[in-house]
Amino acid sequence: MVTGESVWRAIVLYGANSATYKFAFGATLLELAATGRNHVTLEEAAPRYAELLCQALERQPRQGTAARSKFLDACRSFNVGDLDQETLHQRTVQLGFSNVVDAFPKLGGAQAPVRYYEDQRKHPTNPGLVLRDELLELAHSVHAADLDAETAARWRLVETAWASGVSGAVLGGPALDYDSGTQQLVLRTKQRRKSVTGVVAALNGYQDGRCAYCNDLMARDAGPVVEHVLPWKLTRHWDGPNVDAVWNLVLSCKPCNDAKRDRAPHEGWMPWLEQRNNDLIESRHPLREVLMAQTGGTAADRHATLKRAYQRATELLPAVWSPPAGPRTAS
Ligand SMILES: [Zn+2]
Repeated sequence: MVTGESVWRAIVLYGANSATYKFAFGATLLELAATGRNHVTLEEAAPRYAELLCQALERQPRQGTAARSKFLDACRSFNVGDLDQETLHQRTVQLGFSNVVDAFPKLGGAQAPVRYYEDQRKHPTNPGLVLRDELLELAHSVHAADLDAETAARWRLVETAWASGVSGAVLGGPALDYDSGTQQLVLRTKQRRKSVTGVVAALNGYQDGRCAYCNDLMARDAGPVVEHVLPWKLTRHWDGPNVDAVWNLVLSCKPCNDAKRDRAPHEGWMPWLEQRNNDLIESRHPLREVLMAQTGGTAADRHATLKRAYQRATELLPAVWSPPAGPRTAS
């Protein structure tokens, strides 16, 4: 179903990434819309937008795939004290929005089915962006905080991928493991362990807030629960791919998690997981390289890996659990 929320997720969380401007721009739009206003000038949007990018550059110097960006250079100068805040905001208005305002509403080269603002930068008397009702509704929905967290998670993952840690995972380099104590994805190299982002926020965008097993909306107070599809209990006698890794993690509601216990789901459900992993890989998700490293470089390899792992899991733990809605396919 096309909703304001699902399209936002498609744009911010699953579109192509060549720079992180869109995360900063999306977060700024949501914050401005949350104040109830329906028109903003670039001068009004600039401070928060620039602030988010300056913070990101402090965290990770690489924020785009282009060799140079005058706008990011201005943010860097501000960070080291070579540029004052007023000049930073002026540069942001001049340079920072040029691509992102046009590119943000596009999905795969076409206009996204939901529009969140109208570009009136050239309006003769009242230039700026007109924030449409679709955006105002989104900013006031109960999911606004989730979208914010998911944007932050995706941003961290993109940064991490660019900092080469995650994409290096292909050839026995660093691994991205799940730490159940903190519910974080942890980048592990020979030298160190570093938390990258929370698993819930990293996966929730794909599931649109719905349980992987029963497809119901996950209650906000009692979930979502990070779920090992092939049970964590297997690790004692396991020789397959690490079950504490993204390929085997989904989010479920509390009732499904309680009911499933230490069992694998019925094999009729497993195509959902295979499809989810393939979708993340095809959407150029930052977890793409990790998923390929964990389960295979081609769809056929991944199918075989998953099938082997499932067989082995059900040899060790034969009882399986049937999700309440029965087998279903990814929507
Ligand atoms: Zn459920």
